[in-house]
Amino acid sequence: MLKSGSSKKLPRTVRGFAATLLCLTIFSCSPKKTPIEPDGKIRAVATIAQIGDLAEEIAGERAQVSILIHGSLDPHSYELVKGDDEKLSEADLIFYNGLGLEHGASLSEWLRSSEKGIAIGDRVIQSRPEKLLRKEGAVDPHLWMDVALWAEAVEPMAEAFAKADPEGASYYSARAAILKQKMEEADREVRRTIHRIPADKRYLVTSHDAFQYFTRSYLAEEGEEGWRERFEAPEGLAPDGQLGTSDIRRIVNYLMSHGISILFPESNVSRDSIRKIASVGKQMGLHVRICEEPLYGDAMDGENLHYLDMMRHNAETIARYLEMDE
Ligand SMILES: [Zn+2]
Repeated sequence: MLKSGSSKKLPRTVRGFAATLLCLTIFSCSPKKTPIEPDGKIRAVATIAQIGDLAEEIAGERAQVSILIHGSLDPHSYELVKGDDEKLSEADLIFYNGLGLEHGASLSEWLRSSEKGIAIGDRVIQSRPEKLLRKEGAVDPHLWMDVALWAEAVEPMAEAFAKADPEGASYYSARAAILKQKMEEADREVRRTIHRIPADKRYLVTSHDAFQYFTRSYLAEEGEEGWRERFEAPEGLAPDGQLGTSDIRRIVNYLMSHGISILFPESNVSRDSIRKIASVGKQMGLHVRICEEPLYGDAMDGENLHYLDMMRHNAETIARYLEMDE
């Protein structure tokens, strides 16, 4: 670095070069119009893969998207680990679900205090307030389990990218339109798959309450008032592994009253609850089976690296096993 006044001792050409360098330095340090990184891309961080996958589809070549909560980690209770703080601090955009999903203390505190955070779930509900579900008074954050509803997340994300990178506005909006179309097609496909099963057999038991939106949209008939009856789970809106005798009895009674015998574990939730229910059910003379393939609720992992693949997998697995359930 040149110290102030040192240019007096330098030859004219070097002084000229130093002045040019100083100008360039001042120019490059001045506030930028957009927060574009040295590699020419803006940086976005998404808390969960179901958001990150959409962000990647919209961002294309213009932005780099990374996901904070990897693989089978539980987004409900995720706490920041080494390196997360840096990742969040360096991001130009932070997409998170909100609606109480990311309630680990360190992460929720970070998101609350950051001006870069965009609560995608809140935005979706602002545009479709009538779609919000609750369970025992608590907001259900699992909006992504209804593909058509989750498609409402695309627009606010594309707008956020365009705001951060105005030159790319038309690029993002074109990619967003393609993505929305793909999601609308997938929504119809998931419903068609599930409706291979006759209505009187469309009942679902999974590990935790992640499938309410899925049930209303796909298991139920259109506009069915009693759709909630089609889904049960031993663990609540956030899986906590706490299972009482009354929870087990409730699920076993549910299986008996609907004449179903298949339990669907979720990829990122311990199978202990499901195993206990199967064991108690068997003691009561029920032929209870546990599906060999997990469903994907809160986490996308294994071969389900993309959101729409995850939803197709869930639909195919549920339909195939309910078809076999005599
Ligand atoms: Zn969940």
